[in-house]
Formats: sequence, structure tokens, C-alpha cells
Amino acid sequence: MKHILIFGPPGAGKGTQAKLLVDKYKFMHLSTGDMLRDEIKRSTEIGLRAKAIIDSGQLVSDEIVAEMVRLRIRNMKDDAGIIFDGFPRTLAQARKLDEIMNGEKQEIAMMIAIDVHDEEIIKRILERGKISQRSDDRDINTIKNRIDTYNRQTAILADYYKQQAKFKSVDGIGTVEDIFKNICKLIEE
Ligand code: ADP
Repeated sequence: MKHILIFGPPGAGKGTQAKLLVDKYKFMHLSTGDMLRDEIKRSTEIGLRAKAIIDSGQLVSDEIVAEMVRLRIRNMKDDAGIIFDGFPRTLAQARKLDEIMNGEKQEIAMMIAIDVHDEEIIKRILERGKISQRSDDRDINTIKNRIDTYNRQTAILADYYKQQAKFKSVDGIGTVEDIFKNICKLIEE
């Protein structure tokens, strides 16, 4: 089984590429953003707590997110592996993920970062906000906070995986198909 982290700032296209990878290689898609939005929709305790945090552009607590991930991995069936989309987002989450994977006798194969500059991601998120149901995609302050959160807490994860020689990246500017082809090349190398 090959487990892959899709990495990059909000709006980089992680979810889009993750879905294509799931179709092609039969991976299991693990998106903590989708999981949290599902909790909100179902008005669970986690959802009620997460909503305000998400709308402010900050991160939900490491404990809550890691526990959701742990349960999901434990219920993994015979998929080809997992595509992690939007997780880990902090150093604590990366360490927690290592712990969970060790417990399952599994290992992260690689992190694939999608490179996109700030100006482009703001444009993309605002476009997505016009059609998606996501409240965090409509407000410019929320979007700026999310980018700021990414730069302060998440971007350093690239170093964590570089140190383990697991870091790879693709140019995130171009057509969805071209970016997908480049990601597939990295996976099949
Ligand atoms: P995007 O990558 O476009 O920001 P996501 O769907 O991955 O979209 O995340 C939306 C929001 O959900 C984040 O801004 C954050 O508040 C919350 N979230 C998602 N994943 C995590 C995580 N691993 N840790 C903490 N918060 C998370």
C-alpha cells in the first residue's frame, strides 16, 4: 500500500487532484476538511465546535482532527493506499500521523506539494466561493487568515518530510490535466 500526502496552500487544487488520484489508483480519499464539513452538516458536537474556527480561517484542534483520522484509518479496507488531503497541517499532526501509521505497520511514502503563489490562490478561492456552499471561501478576510495560518503553521511541514527524503513538488499553475500527469509521474517513479 502506498500512502501519499497532498500538500499545498488553501486553493492549490489538493482536493481536485486527490479525487483524480482516487479514481485512477483506487486510493482511499482522506480529506479532513470534508470530514469536518460533514460533522458541521450533521450538527455533531465536533461540527458545532469546528464551524466558528473554520469560518475564522484558523485550525481546528490537533486532538480533534487526529482522532477523526485515527478512526478513519482503523476502518480502512483493502484500498490501494490513502491520499491524505489537508492533513497533517501542523507539526503535532505530522508526529501524530507517524504514530498512527506505526501502529498500523504502515508508512507515508511521500508528500507531493502543489506550488501556487498567493495572488493566484486568492483568485481561485473567491471563484470557488461563488459556486461552492463553503462560507470560508466567500470572505476575503477569512481567505487571508487561512493563507496566513498556512504560512505560520503548515508550510514548515515541507521540511519535516524533506528531512525524511519524502518531499516532492509539482508546479500548480497550468491545466488540471497537466498537473495531474505530473503528479502521476511522481507516484510511479
Ligand atoms: P483548504 O485547503 O481550501 O483550506 P480544507 O477543506 O482542507 O480547505 O480546510 C478547510 C478548513 O477546515 C481549514 O481552514 C481548517 O479550519 C479546517 N481543517 C481542515 N483540515 C484540518 C486539519 N488537518 N487541522 C486543523 N484544521 C483543519
